[in-house]
Amino acid sequence: MAYKGVDYFAVDSLLSDQELLVRQTARRFSSEQAVPLIRDCYRDARFPRELVPEMAELGFLGANLEGYGCAAMSNVEYGLIMQELERADSGLRSFVSVQGALVMFPILAYGSDEQKQKWLPALQSGRAIGCFGLTEPDFGSNPAGMRTTARREGACWVLNGEKTWITNGTVADIALVWARTDDGIRGFLVERGTVGFTTSDIHGKWSMRASVTSSLSLADCRVGEDARLPEAKGLKAPLSCLTQARFGIGWGVLGAAMDCYETAREYSTLRKQFDDRPIASHQLVQEKLAWMITEITKAQLLALHAGRLKDQKKLEPAHVSMLKRNNVAMALECARLSRDLLGANGITDEYPIMRHLCNLETVKTYEGTDHIHALVIGERVTGVPAYK
Ligand SMILES: Cc1cc2nc3c(=O)[nH]c(=O)nc-3n(C[C@H](O)[C@H](O)[C@H](O)COP(=O)(O)OP(=O)(O)OC[C@H]3O[C@@H](n4cnc5c(N)ncnc54)[C@H](O)[C@@H]3O)c2cc1C
Repeated sequence: MAYKGVDYFAVDSLLSDQELLVRQTARRFSSEQAVPLIRDCYRDARFPRELVPEMAELGFLGANLEGYGCAAMSNVEYGLIMQELERADSGLRSFVSVQGALVMFPILAYGSDEQKQKWLPALQSGRAIGCFGLTEPDFGSNPAGMRTTARREGACWVLNGEKTWITNGTVADIALVWARTDDGIRGFLVERGTVGFTTSDIHGKWSMRASVTSSLSLADCRVGEDARLPEAKGLKAPLSCLTQARFGIGWGVLGAAMDCYETAREYSTLRKQFDDRPIASHQLVQEKLAWMITEITKAQLLALHAGRLKDQKKLEPAHVSMLKRNNVAMALECARLSRDLLGANGITDEYPIMRHLCNLETVKTYEGTDHIHALVIGERVTGVPAYK
């Protein structure tokens, strides 16, 4: 039966016809193209690259950006796409988040005309893939401490350092590398094949197995001044990209949570224990389902309000921290409760729950951990920063 989504509280009535149409397109893509192959991709630790051309064709890459072939969708439409993609797999949504929010957005916001002309149409159409190199082996939650340097030498910049946990690293044609210069942190577009730039994959992941995660190495890697994003100045530039991506995560995890909830709800009506009664007839089971649908509904409303505010240019980074932190924690708990309701079957990949659960552990950590977003919210309400 076709997936119908999860809407307990008529949240759909708050969406326009256009928004519903975009969601339907993304939903059909996920159901028909992504869901049928994602389990094997996850087993084989393989990124389904064959899905990129159609996602590009449907306008999913940089969907909420304007110009250079981008679809100029509203932020709510963009969020709904993230939701439907993450229903299939967080790794697929991660690919689209990195490409759009972490590579195309900074080029559009901080790049030169030449950089925009060269990269945005290629990235939008999926002819080129990008990655975003901020995290280092010793600096994750605190990127301000980064050790990667870019030193000016005549007309060139010489980059040295290591980046790690970089989504899309080994498949990327272009890496946006953040580095320390004499003048503060700056962003550089490093093309695959540049001398001194190498990438390698991180293996042994039990999470995000359908997504490529890599390390980047820069050893006396020379790029021209034309590789530097001219308008990106200081740490606030990469942080502004993360705000874009976190907004998409706040929506995306709804898809994973809805898939877990719906799987558990249906299973509980079919699975019989004790006197041939469905497990759904037990109060303890219903309590779990009631918790899940309540939290999903609250998270849907939070995401929608965030999207409306973003469309009005009123969404602030501290709002996005609450959205990301709340919705990821909600999705992770839904995955755990759903896994429980499926009993032993819940641990197999015959059902999507354990895959979502493992993926959501990454989603809790990347793009600002749960703790870091708590500190952002704490600073906002007290005026006192508590990061150190
Ligand atoms: C699959 C995957 C894909 C990723 N993709 C990318 C990517 O494309 N680009 C990129 O740049 N990075 C990427 N990352 C990296 C990710 O952003 C970092 O893992 C994240 O920022 C956390 O850093 P860390 O892992 O070094 O953990 P740490 O910073 O070492 O944190 C470890 C623990 O300490 C806690 N902690 C740290 N500081 C504080 C504090 N002040 N107060 C309270 N608690 C604290 C954290 O909350 C966490 O619980 C990815 C990570 C994963 C797993």
